[in-house]
Amino acid sequence: MSDCIFCSIINGDIPAEKVYEDEEVFAFNDIASQAPYHFLVIPKRHISTLNDTEDEKLIGKLSLTASRIAKQKGFAEDGYRVVMNTNKDGAQTVFHVHLHCLAGRQLGWPPG
Ligand code: 5GP
Ligand code: ZN
Repeated sequence: MSDCIFCSIINGDIPAEKVYEDEEVFAFNDIASQAPYHFLVIPKRHISTLNDTEDEKLIGKLSLTASRIAKQKGFAEDGYRVVMNTNKDGAQTVFHVHLHCLAGRQLGWPPG
């Protein structure tokens, strides 16, 4: 989608710190990091919200990509959080599905 920030990151029009890429997914550091590690995993295909897909394989891959990156970067054992904010009450601000992965400090629960 031409007016989507994350589609522009995928096609290289907006720069981002890439963490991982394959044919289906792209991972990059969040521009407003909320933890020592904070990256986003997104599908290359534009999907606005989690409500707009039934693609179990692709949505599952977002989580497993985060887990693989966590193992590779060495924080999997200490732990991390993956979260997908959806629509207004979920505080979603960018309407291209993305999985946040946060790690590197003790995270609070419940979230604000
Ligand atoms: P949401 O609030 O929709 O769950 O999360 C959107 C995330 O995208 C936010 O954490 C925000 O900091 C991040 N973000 C927004 N614009 C950009 C950008 O241009 N580059 C990067 N790397 N992250 C962005
Ligand atoms: Zn998009």
